Amino acid sequence: MLQWRSNIKQYVRKHPSVVLNGPDRKAVALTFDDGPDSETMPQVLKILKDKGVTASFFFVGSRVAQQPELVKQAYDEGHLVLNHSYTHAELPKLSSGQLREELDKTDEAIERIIGRRPVLLRPPYGETNAAVEQAWSGEDRKLVLWSLDTLDWSLKESKPIEKNVADYVRNGEIILMHTTEETGETAAALPAIIDGLLEKGFRIVGLDELLDTPAYSQPIE
Ligand SMILES: [Zn+2]
Repeated sequence: MLQWRSNIKQYVRKHPSVVLNGPDRKAVALTFDDGPDSETMPQVLKILKDKGVTASFFFVGSRVAQQPELVKQAYDEGHLVLNHSYTHAELPKLSSGQLREELDKTDEAIERIIGRRPVLLRPPYGETNAAVEQAWSGEDRKLVLWSLDTLDWSLKESKPIEKNVADYVRNGEIILMHTTEETGETAAALPAIIDGLLEKGFRIVGLDELLDTPAYSQPIE
């Protein structure tokens, strides 16, 4: 992972549509990948509501079609509903046709539910290249990676997940978490993560506010 970080930092310098973190201000974004799922996501939505915090969800398109009510709920409760490909594919390995399909089908699945198309994409595994960026080019479109990995996808207890945020958080951080059937500790860790950030004086905002960029394409007049 350290290797990925050092490579991606160099990469991002030359690729302005790819974002790793927000500006050096006392604000961070909580991002949740791989949902919607029926186990972790309802708990996460409840915690966010109780704490009055906005988050950004990068959904897998094929799962969006299976859990439309959770997508609608997330949107209605003020969270961002964003694109994480249709089948959680390694995008740089796909043909241009397959790539288009992964991105477009997810946009369409989301649009059917919330009536808007996201302009923020997180490629699965943080894997991108020129072809992916070409496929996702257009007004306001950005690829949003992350700057702090909570490791909630590998840790089996909530305490070390909390500690990964508490010990390492910096200004402008984009914090990576997951909502899947396998990441139950994410919900267990979330209340303490939010409380800890607020105690440190961080505002917790959507990616649109953190990056001062739209989350959805403008409606066609
Ligand atoms: Zn993912």
